[in-house]
Amino acid sequence: MERSTLYSISENGDAITCHLCGATSSNTNDIQRRYCGQCHRFLDDVESAMAQGACPDCGARHFRPGPRGGASQNIECRRCKARFNVTWYFGHLIFAERIEREIEGGSRWPEDWFP
Ligand SMILES: [Zn+2]
Ligand SMILES: [Zn+2]
Repeated sequence: MERSTLYSISENGDAITCHLCGATSSNTNDIQRRYCGQCHRFLDDVESAMAQGACPDCGARHFRPGPRGGASQNIECRRCKARFNVTWYFGHLIFAERIEREIEGGSRWPEDWFP
């Protein structure tokens, strides 16, 4: 199975699962181009943006930290408020998934929580 931080491709290559939103597609074009129809994103592009510390939605490079657990850290884009749960391992982004924005029902992260 081919694995990336943001997607996995099934054993026989006939499906791609986006880790960012959880959607699975069996569309050949999606699989070949690593495209997620639900995120409307090319996942390799999203991955390289995030690996460089940029928001895949708006390109901003300013995140504020939210709750963390073990190696994973929740972050929120200061510009568009998109939230992600990310895991870094020795400087490499190894996992990322999208989580609910505050406006979508996500928990409130007080500004002074994490200095
Ligand atoms: Zn997706
Ligand atoms: Zn953003």
